[in-house]
Amino acid sequence: MAQIIASPSRYIQGKGEIRNLCSYAQNYGKKLCILVSASGKKRVETAITEGQKDTGVTVIFKIFNGECCMSEINRIIEAVKAAGCDMISGVGGGKIHDTAKAVGYYAGIPVVIVPTIASTDAPCSALSVIYSEEGIFEKYLFLPSSPNIVLVDTDIVSKAPARLLISGMGDALATYFEARACRQSDALNCVGGKSTLAAMALAELCYDTLMENGVSAAIAAEQKVCTKAVENVIEANTYLSGIGFESGGLAGAHAIHNGLTAIKETHEMYHGEKVAFGTLVQLVLENADMEEIEEVLEFCQAVGLPTTLAELGIMEVKPEEIMEVARLAAAEGDTLGNMPFDVTPEDVYAAIMAADALGRCFTEE
Ligand SMILES: [Zn+2]
Repeated sequence: MAQIIASPSRYIQGKGEIRNLCSYAQNYGKKLCILVSASGKKRVETAITEGQKDTGVTVIFKIFNGECCMSEINRIIEAVKAAGCDMISGVGGGKIHDTAKAVGYYAGIPVVIVPTIASTDAPCSALSVIYSEEGIFEKYLFLPSSPNIVLVDTDIVSKAPARLLISGMGDALATYFEARACRQSDALNCVGGKSTLAAMALAELCYDTLMENGVSAAIAAEQKVCTKAVENVIEANTYLSGIGFESGGLAGAHAIHNGLTAIKETHEMYHGEKVAFGTLVQLVLENADMEEIEEVLEFCQAVGLPTTLAELGIMEVKPEEIMEVARLAAAEGDTLGNMPFDVTPEDVYAAIMAADALGRCFTEE
């Protein structure tokens, strides 16, 4: 079995870089279709068209309809063809990125992903999640390659609500522990290969970057300013975690996240917030060193990530509901199977309850 690492061809990050979108894109084509929300367009249009003047690239803007579904993907493909565009860019959040990636794949054109928030590690990945028009999960579209360019303007990202950057830290917090579990079990990563030394090193660097910069980045993000700590965390959330999860592999934390989505009360919580709690549950399952568990608990509480079921919105803990979460997490095909030992739903149930108790214990201190 081969070792495989996936990555965008270019990862670009810096203050005011949105202005250089066309300048970077001109290596790939002449006409760029930019998929963006109506409010996002107001924020980025001037900078993009200013920067475009110095290049040979022309742009058209298309307003996203709000859902990454096949009818929207086909609508954008038609628009791309009608306008003669030879590149697609998605400027915004996850669903816009996933739509742009799918359009790039079906239309056979290069893809430029521009995240305006750093709330998950999805921008760099070769994956689109497709929903129905009503917003119900339909399928994963596994793409043959990662985006050509991922361009992050840290000025824009640091002006987004702080909770988004913090939930991105929750998603990134899991990366090292899931990659470590996959290495121990010799599991496949998300691109169908074995992990590499490089992916493992990036996952470790991701964790260390959060530990060193997370708290000061969370404080700066509340003030909507872009400090070096914020920039480091944006890189950890987007790039280090992006390569780390896709090429290192997923395991317990994300399976527990998936199980938690069955509880209605958690729907208000962001992906990374549930993943952070899933990370604690994975560490309890592994019976990890108490020192490590404490470090993760203290980090979560310092930056404002949930460490208890109550903080996830589950005010009344019903054993049968938690058992359902555990069963879903342990379902065949989910990534709990990548843990280096057998895990039963009863084990997951016990770990969730124990993680919740640990979280409460530390909150009360
Ligand atoms: Zn995730």
